[in-house]
Amino acid sequence: MEAIAYERAANVADAVRSAQTAGVAFIGGGTNLLDLMKGGVARPVKLVDITHLSDDGLDTVRTRPDGGIRIGALMRNSDAADHPLVRERYPLLTQALVAGASAQLRNMATIGGNLMQRTRCPYFYDTAFAACNKRTPGSGCAAQDGYQRMHAILGASAQCIAVNPSDMSVALAALDATIEVVGPAGARRIPIGEFHRLPGDRPDIDTVLRPGELITAVDLPPLSTSLAEHTYYLKIRDRASYAFALVSVAAALQMQGERIAGVRVALGGVAHKPWRAAIAEGLLTGQPLTDANLHEAAAAQLRDAHPLPGNRFKVLLAERAIVRALNIAAGRESIGVTGASA
Ligand code: SF4
Repeated sequence: MEAIAYERAANVADAVRSAQTAGVAFIGGGTNLLDLMKGGVARPVKLVDITHLSDDGLDTVRTRPDGGIRIGALMRNSDAADHPLVRERYPLLTQALVAGASAQLRNMATIGGNLMQRTRCPYFYDTAFAACNKRTPGSGCAAQDGYQRMHAILGASAQCIAVNPSDMSVALAALDATIEVVGPAGARRIPIGEFHRLPGDRPDIDTVLRPGELITAVDLPPLSTSLAEHTYYLKIRDRASYAFALVSVAAALQMQGERIAGVRVALGGVAHKPWRAAIAEGLLTGQPLTDANLHEAAAAQLRDAHPLPGNRFKVLLAERAIVRALNIAAGRESIGVTGASA
């Protein structure tokens, strides 16, 4: 049995101070970290408990001077999803949060922990498989010639084809969120699009967080009412609940008559990070909302996909999911059975 040191931090400064040595992990809800520890995948030498930090605003939602909101990093996923400011101004985030995990897990998991959750690639979790560059750098990648159904079609590398499992992060990407972190060098702000890394030749590193940095908040800029009114989070998965996305789409539309005045699209389940669909957004902005335009934009977005034999289906699935999510957001199509339940 391995001994693990434990410290309960009193506040953010205390937590950061306690995490200045190698092998320290912060623990909040613990819904992912404890699984990783039980399986021998994560082996922290010390856990810093951040569930009792006394700093103001860590477990609530506040309005910001610019009209946006700030969500404290220790807020539970279920509480954030149900908060009136989130439900009314950012329904896309509520939909994505409710689409994730189970009610029990959402009651435990924190917003900061959701951002930090690790891939669900089965080879990463099963230490019986020696080859996993994310778990053991330089060991190889069992998925390259193995099970690939849940894996990446965009931005992958020869070292790793894992995907980010978070639904919430896909909505945050579409909403232009900013992550606030505090570390030994002070506070800094990281745009969501830069927070998660592509695997490259260091798939063991998921985010750009520096050693000892702690997530304290997620800031959302104001969203126009018309954009907030036309949103949808579409999650396509193998089971109707408690399953990770094969493909997901966070979509928001701002219409001006028949034309698209503004559009946000982000994809989940396709890459090592939430994937903002900038190509599709560029093609659709200013255009009439027609099936032909939607299909053309979705196909252009997936043109650079590099599927493997086991996940080739994801290219067409992602194209159709983009079209469907935007049609639902626009009110042109009903939700049906694959939609989030929010
Ligand atoms: Fe490991 Fe990534 Fe390969 Fe999965 S895809 S086995 S996480 S290196």
